[in-house]
Amino acid sequence: MIDWSEQGLMMRDAFRKFVDSEIAPNIEELEHGDTPPYDVLRKMYKTFGIDDVARARFEKQIARDKRIAAGEAVEERKKEVDPEEAAEAAAMQIIPIIELCRYSPGLITAMGVSMGLAGGSIMSKGTIRQKERWGLDLLTLDKIGAWAITEPGSGSDAFGGMKSVARRDGDEYVLNGSKTFITNGPYADTIIFICKLDDGGPVEERKVLTFVLEKGTPGLVQSKPLRKMGMHSSPTGELFLEDVRVPKENLLGETEESPSREGAKDNFSTERSGVAAMALGIVEQALKLSVEYARTRVQFGKPIGEYQLIQLKLAKMEVARMNIQNMVFRHIEMVAHGRRPSLAEASAMKLYAAQACMEVCLEAVQVFGGNGYMSEYQVEQLCRDAKVLQIYAGTDEMQTIHIARGLLQEGA
Ligand SMILES: Cc1cc2nc3c(=O)[nH]c(=O)nc-3n(C[C@H](O)[C@H](O)[C@H](O)COP(=O)(O)OP(=O)(O)OC[C@H]3O[C@@H](n4cnc5c(N)ncnc54)[C@H](O)[C@@H]3O)c2cc1C
Repeated sequence: MIDWSEQGLMMRDAFRKFVDSEIAPNIEELEHGDTPPYDVLRKMYKTFGIDDVARARFEKQIARDKRIAAGEAVEERKKEVDPEEAAEAAAMQIIPIIELCRYSPGLITAMGVSMGLAGGSIMSKGTIRQKERWGLDLLTLDKIGAWAITEPGSGSDAFGGMKSVARRDGDEYVLNGSKTFITNGPYADTIIFICKLDDGGPVEERKVLTFVLEKGTPGLVQSKPLRKMGMHSSPTGELFLEDVRVPKENLLGETEESPSREGAKDNFSTERSGVAAMALGIVEQALKLSVEYARTRVQFGKPIGEYQLIQLKLAKMEVARMNIQNMVFRHIEMVAHGRRPSLAEASAMKLYAAQACMEVCLEAVQVFGGNGYMSEYQVEQLCRDAKVLQIYAGTDEMQTIHIARGLLQEGA
């Protein structure tokens, strides 16, 4: 794949129009940090029928799950997938990410966590009942989801330092603990809460369990949005649980044997490839703005774009854009040919894309000079937003570790 198909370009233009009419004019309000992003996202779902597509996919999956549950032999016939069709479908998921990130990457953070992480966890590890009860509403964005693993004392070492616990009490579980930096935490209707089973055994051997919690459950407190450096259109908050009682129906998969650690790791891979697409949107916009500014800003009697020091910056930005785009296109090709990236591959994509994006945004601010430091100019916001790509979904250092581990394990 060397460029978007004709259909992809049409899709890109349609999203661009939506962004120009619905997001760009309201950017200040969204980026103020106090306006939840969900109404505009729902409007986007309705405009492009994303909710209808999600509903149709959901019904197909549930029908299949029910046939399997009824003991019907569901043919695992390897459907002949047309790579072109599959590439088109993958591109259709990635184009909105890129286009929204050109203006407000926080919107994609909020949407991705709700639909991808929270909805995705339920759809991959939940029972049919759980999928019907919580999954569909998250996929259509009728309800907002959060996915909570990070705690004040455990971030990169998410499982090792985890203090949140579930204790069995008759037919129920009693949950205690706190989570922090949780995207959509302040407003989420449905929360995926990851904790350890307190069964009296050695802490390091305790099972990791995943629960689904509903807003308003007694003992669950969702904080107000935290103030932060960027991604202001994505609300981030804390969760506090004090003796929250839930029945077994809220345990994801309704069994303690469900592989929660692996479930969380699967999410890492998906998230990391998504971050590269986010980086591409931010870089495209930062570069476009920088080129326009370099053409029009005159100093010493010439547009600054005529100075080689500025040209070098623009050229390096373009190289980064091309590299990230190539990674994203390769990812689409892999998906089209039925291959999922390994954790190491997804980590490599994220590490490069996040670092390149940060460098591009810092250089964009430099091209704009004093104006680049002013909130009135969009590069200031893009620069603040870009930083978190190096932190969430695993820090740069964690990506590095996963890449190296992948290399060292190969052929071992
Ligand atoms: C805006 C935002 C949204 C987020 N959304 C969510 C969410 O929805 N759900 C959720 O569960 N979490 C979320 N997070 C949390 C995020 O995943 C964590 O911040 C991240 O994993 C890093 O953890 P930490 O902040 O505790 O940093 P730490 O793990 O304390 O790391 C501090 C520093 O030490 C480095 N470090 C740690 N261990 C090593 C090591 N072994 N070798 C070398 N260096 C190391 C790190 O790379 C980092 O530079 C969000 C964070 C932010 C900022």
